[in-house]
Amino acid sequence: MERTNTQGLLIVISAPSGAGKTTICKELLNEFPDLHFSVSCTTRPPRKGEKDGEDYHFISVKDFRNSIEKDEFVEWEEIYGHFYGTSKKDIEGLIQKGFDVILDIDIKGAGNVKVKYPESVFVFIMPPSVEILRERLKKRGSETDDIIKMRFDRAMEEIRENERYDYVIFNDTISDSVDIMRSVYMAEKNRRSQLQARINNFYQITGGI
Ligand code: 5GP
Repeated sequence: MERTNTQGLLIVISAPSGAGKTTICKELLNEFPDLHFSVSCTTRPPRKGEKDGEDYHFISVKDFRNSIEKDEFVEWEEIYGHFYGTSKKDIEGLIQKGFDVILDIDIKGAGNVKVKYPESVFVFIMPPSVEILRERLKKRGSETDDIIKMRFDRAMEEIRENERYDYVIFNDTISDSVDIMRSVYMAEKNRRSQLQARINNFYQITGGI
């Protein structure tokens, strides 16, 4: 795809845990080299298989507080007793270069991004049903029953917030959801406002036939 000097697109994806959002994001990221993942900072310990600098920047509470003081986050939240935050420098650097960025953040964080970057695209991933959501949360394995219950209650609360999003994807199957996500991405990339720089360049070509 021809690069233009248009700013990159911010795509904010939220979902209750257990909706399958991480897998959908990863599939899309594999497909589009110009699409980057915004690696959040968190104070929660890594889960099995998670890599520092890829899934999250796993940092200490002290470092996190330091970053808050230095105003280094676009937004940050405390979730399940841990801090999560989006680095201002990371995403600004990428979108200024024209790269598109996926932010996998919770609903409150998404609300804050909307205030700072109103042109962003907001996508909400829904689990296919309440039963499936409950089962998926149980299967994660790395958490206690209390945490699972807390995550389930929070998930149900979050699902009610879907009306603040531009798109809702019911994650019935990963491949269908990736298809929908790809369509959303393509449509948003081809919004007139996104193509303004390319349109301007088009008129500047000189020389006769
Ligand atoms: P998990 O611990 O399961 O990886 O993530 C818990 C929740 O934190 C998810 O809803 C995830 O989207 C959200 N999250 C991850 N990074 C950020 C962030 O930088 N900011 C906010 N507000 N939420 C985040």
